Amino acid sequence: MEYQDRVLTCIDCGAEFVFTAGEQLFFYDKQFKNDPKRCKQCKAKRASGGQRVRSETRTTCSECGAETTVPFKPTQGRPVLCRSCFQKHPAKPVPAPETKPDSKLVSDPD
Ligand SMILES: [Zn+2]
Ligand SMILES: [Zn+2]
Repeated sequence: MEYQDRVLTCIDCGAEFVFTAGEQLFFYDKQFKNDPKRCKQCKAKRASGGQRVRSETRTTCSECGAETTVPFKPTQGRPVLCRSCFQKHPAKPVPAPETKPDSKLVSDPD
């Protein structure tokens, strides 16, 4: 049987990748019945650690306005910094929310 390079689409990133004749022969040899579903990059990503894909959120740096991605959902109203701006700002202690002393608590008159 002759094998020809085939172009498949990655189910993860949607990129087209070549399923080469050599790879098809390899698959046939290993009796893999299914075509590869992922491009090499996505396969490598899955192979390394096998952890879930971190969802990166696209956002804009509130300092320089550059587009950046953050590995968390930015909270509204909180500044989001890109990596370079983040490195310019050494970790600042987050001001603790003011706690009101409870001394003024008045119990309801009965
Ligand atoms: Zn891919
Ligand atoms: Zn920035």
